Amino acid sequence: MYGLMQEVPLTVDSILRRARSVFAAREVVSRRDDGQLHRTSYGEVAARAERLMGALHALGVRPGDRVATLAWNSHRHLEAYFAVPCLGAVLHTVNVRLTREQIAWVVRHAGDRVVLVDRSLVPALQAALPDLPSDLRYVVFDDDGRGAAAALPGALDYEALLATAAPLPALPVLDERAAAGLCYTSGTTGEPKGVLYSHRSTVLHAFGCGMADSLGIAQRDCVLPVVPMFHVNAWGLPYACALVGSKLVLPGSHLGGDALAALLEQERVTFAAGVPTIWNLVLQSQRRRRRDLSALRRIVLGGAPAPRALVEAWQAECGVPITHAWGMTETSPVGACTHAGSTGLAPDDPADFTLREKPGRPVPGLEAKVVGDDGRELPWDGASSGELCVRGPWVASAYFGIAAHEAFADAGWFRTGDMATIDADGRIAITDRKKDLIKSRGEWISSNALENAALRCDGVLEAAVVARPDALRDEAPVLFVVARDAAAPPSAHALVAWLGASFPRWQLPRPEDVHVVDAIPKTSVGKIDKKLLRRRLREQQP
Ligand code: AMP
Repeated sequence: MYGLMQEVPLTVDSILRRARSVFAAREVVSRRDDGQLHRTSYGEVAARAERLMGALHALGVRPGDRVATLAWNSHRHLEAYFAVPCLGAVLHTVNVRLTREQIAWVVRHAGDRVVLVDRSLVPALQAALPDLPSDLRYVVFDDDGRGAAAALPGALDYEALLATAAPLPALPVLDERAAAGLCYTSGTTGEPKGVLYSHRSTVLHAFGCGMADSLGIAQRDCVLPVVPMFHVNAWGLPYACALVGSKLVLPGSHLGGDALAALLEQERVTFAAGVPTIWNLVLQSQRRRRRDLSALRRIVLGGAPAPRALVEAWQAECGVPITHAWGMTETSPVGACTHAGSTGLAPDDPADFTLREKPGRPVPGLEAKVVGDDGRELPWDGASSGELCVRGPWVASAYFGIAAHEAFADAGWFRTGDMATIDADGRIAITDRKKDLIKSRGEWISSNALENAALRCDGVLEAAVVARPDALRDEAPVLFVVARDAAAPPSAHALVAWLGASFPRWQLPRPEDVHVVDAIPKTSVGKIDKKLLRRRLREQQP
């Protein structure tokens, strides 16, 4: 056979080479712990990543080894994003909000050799020390070069290490099917499970992120990933930005609404991404003090249902269109998304908001179907709700270290655990997380739908619905809300009456099952923690 195309491997070093050569001067901005901005470039990030490869090699890291990070979004973390996989090792991004037991568990499960840790997060590792392997090496990211003073055995300072390290004379030849990254699911519904990203899946996902009807980031963009680099590679944005040449703005540990709004204004950010709770915080900040967000052309909101009220408020009050995206750790994560005006409607047209209540069509490269309890595919009628299954080159085929898992039982498909419908136009609507559905006398109630409606009620800032066991109904919905103004909370009766306008009576919570609370608990990645809410409810039961 001859005349075929070149077989260039899809490996992360190809992204690094491109960033170093054609985008060497493109800016990377990173917020330090003291709030100051550190300005660097892809050229400098690449040069330092090469020295980091030399340093890690000198520490004994070899192809296939796992190197962990416990860090916020910063230029140093970005250097590790390139150095570790380009060395043939695997970048394990540890969620900084895990408990000390969970940190020790994932580090041991992953078999990490080295941990690169932010100085401000050293206490979390210190607390986990008794359960961590004694031969683990620690390298500390510190703005002031005092990492070696951290209270971790044999701690090395990252900057000192880079200052003396030399790039390797030759880099390993990488196999596109080898592992590049490892991320554990946030475990909203059970134990964390590790997902191994290959070089090939990482590069293809980065290409995908650039497509107009996927995230659609481009060279002209200035991108602020609020979504953490410890959670599904910050939705793949660091790799995608380096590939397409977007300016990258990394917020460090400063994730409050005011700090983010200031960064959006100051750096003239054009594209930002994060979970709904973040965009709610930034909206509240805008309401207190208006910042100039005129450069912002798109916010991508994903990781949890997009409340219509939030999407409408961003458009009406700030003129910023919100893209609704769906994805999971297992899907790298970008799986489906709908941009404002993607079918030619105006972004403030009510019909366009209705379209964006659904994450919509799978992004190019992914296929989707919904299946019933018997595993049979359901029709694409926008009404038949079943478990969403997806397949594609950036979808996991197994969990790290787990020989067989029911999520992969349907050959070639991944069962997501999300309940969804698909309409005749191929648009996916997530009806609920399978485990969050409420079963009342054999009929399903969607917690998402109730939450969305509650959020449209005047005076409601946040809403969460979970099931409680009920002698008559099997399960009954319980609504928690946070009031916009704590001094004038909406009453339980008013809330039930409001919901009654959109839902049949049997789906409504009783007024005594409506709780106005000061705060709704969040998971380590900022999503509503329904597991904890359910546990609290159980503990209150007699
Ligand atoms: P994680 O792997 O931690 O990112 O969590 C993935 C889960 O978040 C999915 O399985 C969904 O249950 C939920 N999720 C993500 N995006 C959306 C969305 N747009 N609408 C509803 N749920 C979502």
